Amino acid sequence: MALPYAPDALEPVISAETLGFHHGKHLLAYVNNLNAALPGSGLENMPLEELLLNAQGGMLNNAGQIMNHNLYFAQFTSPKADNAPTGRLAQAIKEEYGSFEAFKEIFAKAGATLFGSGWAWLSADSQGNLHITQEPNAANPLQHGLRPLLTMDVWEHAYYLDYQNRRPDHLAALWQIIDWDVVAARYEE
Ligand code: MN
Repeated sequence: MALPYAPDALEPVISAETLGFHHGKHLLAYVNNLNAALPGSGLENMPLEELLLNAQGGMLNNAGQIMNHNLYFAQFTSPKADNAPTGRLAQAIKEEYGSFEAFKEIFAKAGATLFGSGWAWLSADSQGNLHITQEPNAANPLQHGLRPLLTMDVWEHAYYLDYQNRRPDHLAALWQIIDWDVVAARYEE
């Protein structure tokens, strides 16, 4: 997946340098690893969503990381003050968590307290109810029957160049660059 914005478009929240390594090196390595493992596996023509449910071992990890990063990089836009969702998604967040502020606090805590590497997620179930989950390593809520809407990558490669060990500061800054139109479209799907 090519980035839908310029490499410096997310600064100062995510630097062009971090984006260059994260998208250009880390994600590329997952893609190359999966492409190297697919031939002869019998899973060659499977979409990523199905690989997540059918692949195992290294192939599953690489497919998961590609899926996760595609969702992650597609959900950002240039920083905006007072950035917030609107419409039906905003209403659903308010109903489930009380307020957007309360939602952000619970979500950021899920990211900050995830031990080791992984992802914090906002997902919807088949009834449209919202769920915040922590997924270790390369896992994705699709594996529990949930539809992923929004994610924060808490692998150190996502923030260490810009924030060093301050993962919570990185997560707090990410709210400025969430493209809520993209997240709402995933919710309405
Ligand atoms: Mn990552």
